[in-house]
Amino acid sequence: MKRRDFFKRSIFGLSIPSFIFGNSKVSRNKNKPVIITTWNYPKANEIALGLLDNHGNAIDAVEAGCRIVEADEENIYVGIGSLPDENGKVTLDSSVMDSRGNCGSVAFLQNIIHPVSVARKVMDDTKHVMLVGDGAKKFALSKGFKHKNLLTKKSSKAWREWLKNKRNMSPHDTHDTISMLAQDHNGDLAGACTTGGWAYKMHGRVGDSPIIGAGLYVDNEIGSAAATGLGEEVIKISGSFLVVELMRQGYSPTEACEKALSRVIKGHNGNPDFQIGFIAMRKDGEVGSACLKWSFDYLVSKNMNTKLYKVKGLIN
Ligand code: ASP
Repeated sequence: MKRRDFFKRSIFGLSIPSFIFGNSKVSRNKNKPVIITTWNYPKANEIALGLLDNHGNAIDAVEAGCRIVEADEENIYVGIGSLPDENGKVTLDSSVMDSRGNCGSVAFLQNIIHPVSVARKVMDDTKHVMLVGDGAKKFALSKGFKHKNLLTKKSSKAWREWLKNKRNMSPHDTHDTISMLAQDHNGDLAGACTTGGWAYKMHGRVGDSPIIGAGLYVDNEIGSAAATGLGEEVIKISGSFLVVELMRQGYSPTEACEKALSRVIKGHNGNPDFQIGFIAMRKDGEVGSACLKWSFDYLVSKNMNTKLYKVKGLIN
C-alpha cells in the first residue's frame, strides 16, 4: 500500500476489529498458536513453537525462543558473543511481559548469558519491574545463574579492530535485537526481547529493549508489539506502547507499525537516517510489521509453519 493511500484509509476508513467491542477475552483466532519474531532466526521460532504445540504458555515460549539466540556464540548481537561497548564490556538488555500485564526487565547486565531469564525472574520473584547493572547481576547469581565471560574471540577481535579508528557505528550497521511475540492455545499473548544493544556504545548506555512500552508491550485484550533498531528513537515515541494503542484505535498491526513510524519520520523532517523496525500481533492472531528504511526481515509461525517475510522501508 502506498503511504498516501495508507493515510487516506487511516483517516476515513478505520476497520475496528469486532473483538474490541465484543467479549475481549475471547480470541477469534483459529490459527493459534502464532509467533512473530524480528529478523531471521528460525531455530528460536522452532523451539517456541514446539513449546506452544505442547500446550505451553506464551510467556514460556518467548523466553525459550530468546534463550536459543542468547546462547549462540556466532550471533554477535544477542547474548554471548555480542559486540561489546567502547570499553570492551558486553552489556545486555532484556525484557518480558505476560498476558496479565506482569513484566520484568534487566539492563546493563554483564557476565550472565541469559538476560531474558533474569528478566523473567525479576517479573516472577520480585516486587520490581527492572533491575540494572551490578544489582541485576547479584540478583541473577542469587538465583543460580553462573558468571561467564561473554566476550568471545570473534567479538573481541571486532572490537580491537574498531579501536584503531573508532568509526562511528550506525546502529543499522551493527545490531539486531531478537524480539518475539507469541499467542498460545488459550489465546493469551506474551512477548520478550533481548539484545547486546548498540555496538561500541558508551559504557552505561541502555537501549529500548528493557524499557517496557518502548522495546516491548503486551495488552492481552488488544495485542502486542516489539521493536528493533535505534533504541534512543524508539524510547522517544514509547514505540511499542504506541503501536498497541493504535491497534486499540482500530488500525491493523501493519498500519499501527506504519503510523508509529510516521511520527519518527515527521520528527526527523521526513528523512531519518537510522533504522527502526516494529513487529505487532493483534489479539485475533493477525500480525504485521513495518520499518523506517532499507528493509527488515521477520519470521511468522502459524499453523505450525514458519515463514520468512521481508518488509520494505517506508522512506527508501
Ligand atoms: N533496539 C536495540 C537497542 O537500541 C538494538 C537493535 O535492535 O538493533 O539497544
